[in-house]
Amino acid sequence: MGGEGPCGARKVYEWNEKPIPPACEECLFRAQELGQHWRSTFGEYRPYFNFISSCVDEGQLITREMLDRWPHLQSWFTAGQRLAPGEIMQHVSGRIRGGLTFCDAANGFFQGLLADIAKHAHWQVTKECYDFTLRVPQMLFENSLPSEYAGVQSPLLGSRSVGFFHDELLNEHPIAVASDASKRVSEIMRDTMRWYCPDYADAAEAEPTLMRCWDKRATKILHKGVVQVWTPEHNAKTCKECGA
Ligand SMILES: [Zn+2]
Ligand SMILES: [Zn+2]
Repeated sequence: MGGEGPCGARKVYEWNEKPIPPACEECLFRAQELGQHWRSTFGEYRPYFNFISSCVDEGQLITREMLDRWPHLQSWFTAGQRLAPGEIMQHVSGRIRGGLTFCDAANGFFQGLLADIAKHAHWQVTKECYDFTLRVPQMLFENSLPSEYAGVQSPLLGSRSVGFFHDELLNEHPIAVASDASKRVSEIMRDTMRWYCPDYADAAEAEPTLMRCWDKRATKILHKGVVQVWTPEHNAKTCKECGA
């Protein structure tokens, strides 16, 4: 928005009586309008922002309700305890993050939560890749959906998880078991998400995608319930079986 701006409107050098880098006045008005629209659409921001400010200024308060919801944290925290200013406790994992400013803290309960979910799923995936004594539990957590592989050795045994990208796992599977292995990863990711976000349990979904090398265009390809390797040439438009 430097210079004249794409709309060619007047340039201003101050906004709300404060000096600013030169910006297009029209763009600033539009941004202000968007802000007002956002505030009137998502009224819940106010109590949430107040809560975040209190975490930053005074430290998050650990409540009885939190410890009832996540009983495994009871040996680490006591109800009524206040963390240090700028510290928050991540939901479910109880991971403490400190030195936070407003935006880090506000994102923590979303992005930090997703990072914990992905990392927890990664931990389970890794165990199933290496531990030959492990049998797949019917329910990974109490609100999981039953596993297709319950009671048997994990189809992930012998696979390797080689990449962890924010909320995505990149794994290598022996070709013969790739379909079941990738489906097992999906089950683990879905069930971990269900456990961390029970209110949104039924929205949790993680589609398996197979490819010979990493390609952001790849999508899930199914032939009668069996996951196929995606290639640029093989998709629902080109393949009768995929379209079926
Ligand atoms: Zn403009
Ligand atoms: Zn096909």
